[in-house]
Amino acid sequence: MTNVTLVTGDGIGPEIAEAARRCIDATGAGINWDVAEAGVEVMERVGTPLPDATVESIKKNGVALKAPITTPVGKGYRSINVHLRQSLDLYACLRPCKSYKGVRSRYTDIDLVVVRENTEDLYAGIEFQKGKDDTAEIINWINEHSSRKITEDSGISIKPISVTATERIVRFAFDYARKMGRKKVTSVHKANIMKFSDGLWLEVSREVAKQYPDIEFEDRIVDNMCMQLIQKPELYDVIVLPNLYGDIVSDLCAGLVGGLGVAPGANIGEKAAIFEATHGSAPKYKGQNKVNPTALILSGVMMLRHIDKTAEADKLENAVAGVIAEGKSVTYDMKPDRNDPAAVGTSQMVDAIIEKIGTRIS
Ligand code: NAD
Repeated sequence: MTNVTLVTGDGIGPEIAEAARRCIDATGAGINWDVAEAGVEVMERVGTPLPDATVESIKKNGVALKAPITTPVGKGYRSINVHLRQSLDLYACLRPCKSYKGVRSRYTDIDLVVVRENTEDLYAGIEFQKGKDDTAEIINWINEHSSRKITEDSGISIKPISVTATERIVRFAFDYARKMGRKKVTSVHKANIMKFSDGLWLEVSREVAKQYPDIEFEDRIVDNMCMQLIQKPELYDVIVLPNLYGDIVSDLCAGLVGGLGVAPGANIGEKAAIFEATHGSAPKYKGQNKVNPTALILSGVMMLRHIDKTAEADKLENAVAGVIAEGKSVTYDMKPDRNDPAAVGTSQMVDAIIEKIGTRIS
């Protein structure tokens, strides 16, 4: 048995966590689930949205499947998702974007993986507010030491890009490509403009690439990359990007394959990995047995591959793909008409997936 933490989340979280658990168990993967709570509901009961026991469980097991968690706006605690990523140093965000027959999209045959750096760049949270003393001090210093001037009434966000973080994320992208039998890594940047941050990113990318002669390497400027992804997505395989471009391009790629309902993801570090859907907790659908469980189930497929349960992962992915392709036992969002009365609920879609897994076993 392999121990995996199951974080049930809030909103639609508990329903889709149960859905993913049932599907994974049906593959015979032999997972021993360590169920842990996080989110607004546990906050109301125990006074914290992220109990220590949950973090300890993830640290102990090293692998978690996590349902979405609400980040209340203006209610005094920071995003638990961000907290988990920072405290466990989950430096790589992995987003496979793959076309499945039956998912409505303008594109077919897409099979890309976006690898986003999670810790640096403009998302490092190093910010200085307009009008504050610290900000004025920084502006004065820059105006004295740089030929370019910053106006007094500016706010400032800092964009750090280091050799250390770039090297580990680019290496992660190449290692992932190798493990998954992928052929090419594309490093994305704006090095023509930001020479000392994105320029460094590109330089380090090229150095790391030399150590992987079996994998093709190329680089693209981010604006060109966006256009190419829309025009010729089939040219790309694994794409590695700094934090901000990674955030934008991973949603662009999710859009290419039919949107958030089918977009799985993972945040991975040296000591722990958390697998989770890209979408949020959709509170308006809580407890209605209505939403699409696909993204979290496909995150479970990624989790099975991560723990080297490849046959079980293939079995589950094939079953999900089969149910979607048939288009019968799918939730409302996968129907051409979202009010189609023939749409099934979350648990009925799961029943259909489990039945397909059974079919393939026999
Ligand atoms: P959301 O992804 O929850 O919802 C966006 C839209 O997609 C809504 O119309 C929703 O009903 C629909 N939707 C989402 N998941 C669906 C599913 N599985 N099947 C069918 N329809 C689905 O985004 P939001 O409304 O911006 O965020 C809600 C909460 O989730 C916020 O508090 C946000 O901070 C949080 N959030 C959490 C995570 C996470 O835990 N990783 C990620 C994103 C957002």
